[in-house]
Amino acid sequence: MRTQIIHVPAKSDNQKENALFCMIMPAGLLAMADLLKKTGNSVQVVHAGMETALQPKNGIENILESFEPDIIAISMHWHHQMAAVRDVINKAKKISSGSRIILGGMTASFFYREIMHEWNNVDFVIRGDGELPLLALAKALDGSGDFSGVPNFSYRKDGQTRHNGLTYQADDAMLNRLDFSNLALMRRPNTYGGLYGGAIGRSNSKMEPEDTRKSEKDGYFYLCCGRGCSAGCAWCAGSTVSHMRMHGRRKPIFRHASRIADDIQKAASHGYHRFYICFDPPGQSSPYMDMMRTLRDRNLSVSLIFEAYGQPPDDEFVLEFSKTFRKEHSAITLSPDTSDEKLRQFYKGKAAMTNSSIEKTLARCAKHGIKTELYFALLPGQNFTGLKKSHEWAKSLSEKYGCSLVFMPVEMEPGAPWHLNPSKYDVKPLCVSFNDFLERSAARDFSHPPKDPGYLFSGFERQIDYILSEGLAARDYVTS
Ligand code: SF4
Repeated sequence: MRTQIIHVPAKSDNQKENALFCMIMPAGLLAMADLLKKTGNSVQVVHAGMETALQPKNGIENILESFEPDIIAISMHWHHQMAAVRDVINKAKKISSGSRIILGGMTASFFYREIMHEWNNVDFVIRGDGELPLLALAKALDGSGDFSGVPNFSYRKDGQTRHNGLTYQADDAMLNRLDFSNLALMRRPNTYGGLYGGAIGRSNSKMEPEDTRKSEKDGYFYLCCGRGCSAGCAWCAGSTVSHMRMHGRRKPIFRHASRIADDIQKAASHGYHRFYICFDPPGQSSPYMDMMRTLRDRNLSVSLIFEAYGQPPDDEFVLEFSKTFRKEHSAITLSPDTSDEKLRQFYKGKAAMTNSSIEKTLARCAKHGIKTELYFALLPGQNFTGLKKSHEWAKSLSEKYGCSLVFMPVEMEPGAPWHLNPSKYDVKPLCVSFNDFLERSAARDFSHPPKDPGYLFSGFERQIDYILSEGLAARDYVTS
């Protein structure tokens, strides 16, 4: 089977500024491609955003025409991508009318029934973990054409939509077998790195002019260190309850330290020297200390941004980090979200760090010369005075420890705890259904922060204006 796997970022087509958003490709796409390749299939991974950014005239049409795929597998992971994904599906169906189009990713997993019902150009949806179902689909298409044994799978037969059971979840042994860094299977392998939209490297933490990345040197390679989460942050579609619903996964699993190090080594051989980890489920023992020792044993000198969600990094972790990673382009980031500890706990539950533990970590990092970055959120339960208090606290930490600051709205995500249970969090969603999210993604101008966060939020615009005027907003899009 010839399979083309495509990542399609969200985009704006306003006449003044063409902005691409969601440039980070889900880490699992390369693993799926590698598994297909190892089992005798022909496969290519395409990052449609990098194609547009680097060569706007070479549209997805030309790429599909030259590869002639049997299967076009498109990731619809983030809800922002929905309208752009729909456009690519419709184009693909015209150009490659004989190809079978399949959707996967978290947003597709949440809205699989609506997709099968409303998007006739989509032939199949895979829910949850996709690698074995995609392989089983390729085998079925190559052989009997019977899809009843393909796990996590939705298809149509005899005019009826069928949804097979959510029976496959990768375990840790499977995750360790998969290869998440086979960049040789990508078009433009040197441009894979996702744009990092935070403030690291900006001397004054102010928002800079557009970050337009034209080559791999500015890109971060996002590592797959595991799957799932043990926390229940209200706004996060990657929470425990969301994973249970979309993937059938009850608890997080990690990859082995040596396998993460293998990915770093392999990506480094392709010219990548900046890596990113945003996988740190609270309350779990992680492989990161072993990973750092392994990297030093292998003499691998690279940069890492590590988002700490679990325990605040202790002395030992910070020391290992400082011995292992280059200082340039490395950082440890923490997400206090607000200076109000009670509010933080209300939205994040037991995973919430305390202000004093955050400050201790910042002090440790400063002692070892490690850059730090703090993320804050615009939260519906925090009024303008609360935001200013958070900013005052953040500024005091920045002055003391040199940390960069980013403030951003948290948007409604399909399948997040407060989307599933808004009354518990006292939010009134504006975005609930498949079509709500689709329309929102089509109407958004991704060259600016959103006009609303997808739920009622009194004073939202004032808070956005404030973070913009103070130069605190993240900017994670590229212009083409
Ligand atoms: S720690 Fe919170 S924000 Fe991070 S993945 Fe888990 S639920 Fe989401």
